Amino acid sequence: MRYAQSVADLVGNTPLVRLNHVTAGVGATVLAKVEYFNPGGSSKDRIAGNIIDAAEREGLLGPGGTIVEPTSGNTGVGLALVAQQRGYRCVFVVPDKVAEDKRAVLRAYGAEVVVAPTAVEPEDPRSYYSVSDRLVREIPGAYKPNQYANQNGPRSHYETTGPEIWRDTDGTVTHFVAGVGTGGTITGTGRFLKEASSGEVRIVAVDPVGSIYSGGPVHGYDVEGVGEDFWPEAYDPSVVDEIHRVSDAESFAMTRRLAREEGLLVGGSSGMAVVGALRAARDLPDDAVVVVLLPDHGRGYLSKLFDDDWMREHGYSVDGIVQDSAADTE
Ligand code: PMP
Repeated sequence: MRYAQSVADLVGNTPLVRLNHVTAGVGATVLAKVEYFNPGGSSKDRIAGNIIDAAEREGLLGPGGTIVEPTSGNTGVGLALVAQQRGYRCVFVVPDKVAEDKRAVLRAYGAEVVVAPTAVEPEDPRSYYSVSDRLVREIPGAYKPNQYANQNGPRSHYETTGPEIWRDTDGTVTHFVAGVGTGGTITGTGRFLKEASSGEVRIVAVDPVGSIYSGGPVHGYDVEGVGEDFWPEAYDPSVVDEIHRVSDAESFAMTRRLAREEGLLVGGSSGMAVVGALRAARDLPDDAVVVVLLPDHGRGYLSKLFDDDWMREHGYSVDGIVQDSAADTE
């Protein structure tokens, strides 16, 4: 008999899939690491088990405990999967720009969802960081993983995502491309691939226009799960060799193309990462192997970037014609 002991054991070992159509004009091989094959539908499933194990070991979380976390959705799903197996309650604070579909998913897994406004400073008492801090103080036995500072995030990618890419490319990967949210994915995966290749693999970060990582003025943007307005401890910028800045319009147009042309129904941060990957790959020789990580499934965005009315209302083209913001790239 061949079966998993629990759904949590199915995390990781996601496949690499070659991109064949959006790559027109690129000589290098571009491979997508499709993280929606994780049981909770995103790369964030990878960090949840390690974070909860460490909290239990350190006595921060015990029987009857509650996990409180500000999350745009995916970390919540990962944590909820593990928490329900171990009998913990989950309360997630979600920014109001996160699609209702994604909030409904968290509730479906048994979590409680508190919605907080996006358009306020992090220090504002209404911000999703402040609200989660208040809940931690108020709920007895509450534990906040704080994915932005928790080193078990990058460590999980160092232990799983990096080795999987190295193994599945037989050590031929030359570039690794990922969007930066907490920075855990690029930091952990990048660090592993640098070590495995004696510094040869080039690490390419991708950032939304308006986020802090790529410089330029910090302001709001629509793509979810990536970019920040502060520097989190989970991100180690010294791992990154180059950073590309991509607009919402480009991210959404590419995300729609990935569904129509590659059969990959993924979220907006995946489209963003692919735009960055193609920019990095444009001038590379044919023997280069570029791996780009696609963090989550597109099903959570059907009423947003896959909806033509939503796209038009927010000023985006639905025919895929957008201005290239590569001029912004550093
Ligand atoms: N894309 C999506 C949709 C995400 O939820 C996240 C996690 N916040 C990321 C990308 C970025 O991953 P990381 O936090 O590891 O940088």
